[in-house]
Amino acid sequence: MKLGTKFIHAGAEPDPSTGAIWPPIYQTSTFVQAAPGDHKGYEYARSQNPTRFALEAAFAGIENARFGLAFGSGVAATDAVIKLLQPGDEVIAGADMYGGTYRLFSKVFARFGITFHYVDMTNVQNVAAVVNEKTKMIWAETPTNPLMNIADIEALSAIAKQHKLILVVDNTFASPYLQNPLDLGADIVMHSATKYLGGHSDVIQGALMLNDQQLRDELYFIQKSCGAVPGPMDCFLVLRGIKTLHVRMQRHCENGRQIAHFLRNHPAVEKVYWCGFEDHPGYAIAKKQMRDFGGMMSFTLKDDSVENARRVLSSTKLFALAESLGGVESLINHPASMTHASIPREERIKNGLTDSLIRLSVGIEDADDLIEDLNQAIG
Ligand SMILES: *Cc1c(COP(=O)(O)O)cnc(C)c1O
Repeated sequence: MKLGTKFIHAGAEPDPSTGAIWPPIYQTSTFVQAAPGDHKGYEYARSQNPTRFALEAAFAGIENARFGLAFGSGVAATDAVIKLLQPGDEVIAGADMYGGTYRLFSKVFARFGITFHYVDMTNVQNVAAVVNEKTKMIWAETPTNPLMNIADIEALSAIAKQHKLILVVDNTFASPYLQNPLDLGADIVMHSATKYLGGHSDVIQGALMLNDQQLRDELYFIQKSCGAVPGPMDCFLVLRGIKTLHVRMQRHCENGRQIAHFLRNHPAVEKVYWCGFEDHPGYAIAKKQMRDFGGMMSFTLKDDSVENARRVLSSTKLFALAESLGGVESLINHPASMTHASIPREERIKNGLTDSLIRLSVGIEDADDLIEDLNQAIG
């Protein structure tokens, strides 16, 4: 089945009680039982909700997975994955990744005795070099937020298999339209469904997709025991978002390509981070594991002062200055003070995330208007 058909039909069954083509929003906390234990598979909505189950089936379908699980946010999905581990276990994570993931690992789970090694994953040798007998998991993000670095998922999977580690890939930036990590050997895919899956900046949600029954059972147990489940209305919104993922992504990619080239040719722009440039260090791997290059990018200015970056950030009229990404509308963001402020400045700069870096989430408006807006803002 091709992508568009899959995104529209994945997990979609008419509602069994009414034939409604889309699952109703089951806004209920509990389900009545005929006698204790005599129920239709639904007891209490933290454990089971038909709208959530419909979405979870769609999650599985869009990542070619057997199982999908929905969470109240992307970080709640990440939190559930790390709860598979025990004190003393070690995780290898990317040095350059979403600031909220770094915060959860280094400020919350480190207190519970889990050790995280942050390495540059553009070279998988860096991962192999820190594996030891306590290592249990590799946490990869590719492309990375916000520097668009690429990790080779198949090569990471080879290391994971050799040492019996769980390979988790945060696939938020690529979306299942561009990349399917399970097909490349990953064990668990994580998404902030807040971004491209929801696609309309109107919901916070997280997703996990996977094939292994035992891991799924453990994660389902964590989902219901810890309780970070999304409500049915939010599940409905993400289900609806997924139906148009391919149409939106196609335009995100087209606009992204045009804007990346516009920025690269702009005399006031120093460097553009976008993995679709042939001279991007991860281009060959990106081309191998992604279908296109998406609408996320970052850039720096020749006048590399924070003031100059702030001037551009507050001068756009169509690009809204806001955190988040992946919605239909274009957003501009200052990672150092916004999405990645929780990473210590020294760490950030060491990884190339400078004070003046500007990140764009290119939306699906008309590219000419977006280019005109950036042009007047950069000046
Ligand atoms: C936003 C984001 C997250 C966190 O998801 P939330 O839905 O905000 O909790 C994780 N990873 C990446 C790459 C993100 O962009």
